[in-house]
Formats: sequence, C-alpha cells, structure tokens
Amino acid sequence: MMWKSVLQQLTRDHLLRELSVIDSTCGPIMSLNGQDILLFASNDYLGLANHPHLKLAACKAIDQFGVGAGASRLVSGTLRPHHELELALAQFFQEDAALALSSGYATNIGIIPNLITPEGLILADRLCHASLIDGCRLSRASLRVFDHNDMDHLKVLLAKRPRNRPTLIVTEGVFSMDGDLAPLAELAHLAKEYDATLLIDDAHGTGVMGPTGRGTLEHFGVKSANIIHMGTLSKALGTSGGFITGTNDFIDYAINTARSFIYSTAPPPAIAAAAHAALGVILQEPERRTRLWRNREYMYQGLRGMGCHLTNTESPILPIIVNHPELAMKMSLELRQKGLFIPAIRPPTVPKGTSRLRITVTAEHSTAQIDSSLAAIQHVGQSLRLL
Ligand SMILES: *Cc1c(COP(=O)(O)O)cnc(C)c1O
Repeated sequence: MMWKSVLQQLTRDHLLRELSVIDSTCGPIMSLNGQDILLFASNDYLGLANHPHLKLAACKAIDQFGVGAGASRLVSGTLRPHHELELALAQFFQEDAALALSSGYATNIGIIPNLITPEGLILADRLCHASLIDGCRLSRASLRVFDHNDMDHLKVLLAKRPRNRPTLIVTEGVFSMDGDLAPLAELAHLAKEYDATLLIDDAHGTGVMGPTGRGTLEHFGVKSANIIHMGTLSKALGTSGGFITGTNDFIDYAINTARSFIYSTAPPPAIAAAAHAALGVILQEPERRTRLWRNREYMYQGLRGMGCHLTNTESPILPIIVNHPELAMKMSLELRQKGLFIPAIRPPTVPKGTSRLRITVTAEHSTAQIDSSLAAIQHVGQSLRLL
C-alpha cells in the first residue's frame, strides 16, 4: 500500500506527525496522559476559549437553537446568532458588512477563487499559510511567489506584468510560523500604484494587534478600498470560524460565490453566539491584551537573553529556529518530559532547514510559569548544545 511507504519515509525523515489527546481546556495548564503540562502552543492569545461569558453565550444558544444548524446558510441554516455575529463583526471592524464561515481555511479557499479570474495573476508571499495557497490554486490563476516581505521583489513582479492583467496580492498580517508582520503600508501603496487587489489574512492579528485589537491593519493605521480583510474567530477570539469584512456589495458577492460557504452546513449557532460574546470581551477587557503583550515582552527578552536564535518576530509568536527536524523533535520531547508543551514545527509547514520550536504566550500565563519555562528551555537548549 502506498501509504505504508509514505509513513515509513516520514518516520525516517523525522517528519511523521502524531496527535496528542488532551483531557482539559487549552491551557495554560492542560492535562496530557494524566499529567499536568504547561502549554506554550495555543493561539488562544487572550484566554477567551474558556471565558465564562463565551461559555454562557454558547450554552444559552444551545438551549434556544439546539446544537446543529441543520442546513447550509443559504438554505435554512442562518440562525439569529449568525446574523448577530456578522452585524457585530461589521461594527467592530468599522465596515458595512461581514460574512462568517465555518473556518479560516474555508474562508480562504472560498473567497480567493472569486477575487481573480483564471486569466489573472496572483502574487503571494513565500511564507503564506497553506489555506491561502490552496485558495490561490483553486482560482486557476497563475501563481507567483515573492520573497518573504520583500517589497522590491514584489515591485519587480508587478512591473513585469501587462498593466491591465488583473492582479491579486496575497499576504498575512502576522505570519503564523514566524510571528513577524507584513509591511502593510508599503503593500497597500504598491497595490494602489499597480492597480492590484490586496488580500490580508489576519488570522493571528485579529484581537491581538492594534491599540484596540482590530488587527494588523489597525496596528499600521492602514485603510484602503482595494484591501480585502480576512480574519479568524479561532485564535484570539477563542472559538472557531473565519470571516471577511467589506462593503455590502462585496459581502453579497461572497455570499453568492464562495463555494465553501454555499455548499457547507452553517457553523453551530453556539459557536456564533460565543464568537459574538468574544468581541464584547475584547472591548470590555482591554487588560487582557495588556497582559498578553507584557507576557510576550517578558518571554521575548528572556529567550533573547539566553541567546536563542529567534525569528524577526513582533508578535506573541516566538519561534526558536533549530534547523534540523530531528533536533526540533528532540528538544520538544525533552521539554515535554520537563512538563512543557512546545511543539516542533517542521517542513512542509515551514521551509526546509528552518525547523523550529514555536512558542506562543497568552494573557493567561503567569510570570512564574514563564520563568519556569525559560529555565527549562535554557537547560534543554544547553544539553543539546543549541545555547
Ligand atoms: C490558522 C490560520 C488559518 C486557518 O484558520 P482556521 O480557522 O484554523 O481554519 C488561516 N490563515 C492563517 C494565516 C492561519 O494562521
């Protein structure tokens, strides 16, 4: 069987992936194989996945609307919580309208093919998330990659194409495996200059970046009519799903064209209600973002101080580059034996030769927890001669 040899090869290359079953909430302390383990891997940056307001909103919605939505949104699946979530998203992001889909992945593969015709050109950052790349491929437009955050390279590719060729530039606000930011002001400027549309996937920026958590566009103070903004409910918003915001026309267009929206059952109403509650918590409890950034700074300085090879991160994603997948796995395993859960991220998620430990800090970590993780990382890093 072909899958047997594939699995053997992955094992030989230290690239086999396995699931860990957790018996608790997603952190910061979680239960794994009957043991408490300190988690530095979740994207629940603000600790909302277990917030009482969200849980209450979900329970109330289950009481009133049941568990499943029963049909796709366009048939009979648009329940009151879906509608209210979309109104709240539009208001939060100061746009006319919003559309929520069942995941960030579904959002990208559903939206991108309708932003460009097969005759068009897509220019995507080299480090774009798999869901963006899959969406680009589904569009059947030609796909060219520009070097990560390299505006000169992007400009060359833009200048080379026939001026009237429809063009879509695709990037992330906060890069999910590196934690650095796309230069959104420059990107918006180039998109305008070359008459291109710019899609920004702000999965890791939503709720985290910007003075009020509206994301990386807010962080840079960028707003432009030719920018398509996509975000997720599944990271800092602590629930599940993806969304886009925009003009009424654009959202109507998406409702009528996004296949992952049209041909998929509506998300559970409880999730929509909880995501709606999350937007409220983000507004009412800004101290969560303050704590997140304080923890991020503390962890970052600690890792730097001990000489870790970090990326150019500017977010709560703090990757330690260790290059070889075997070494990354070994470090992750030894940390696990010390009670820390920090995953090794390997190809194809990241480019070859850049395997890493991906640390994420959240608002919920205590200083003592960060101190103990720093001590463990230093100990394991030194024993593996990485530090
Ligand atoms: C996580 C992520 C997604 C997918 O979102 P899900 O809601 O988990 O499906 C899309 N884009 C980026 C950049 C991500 O990090």
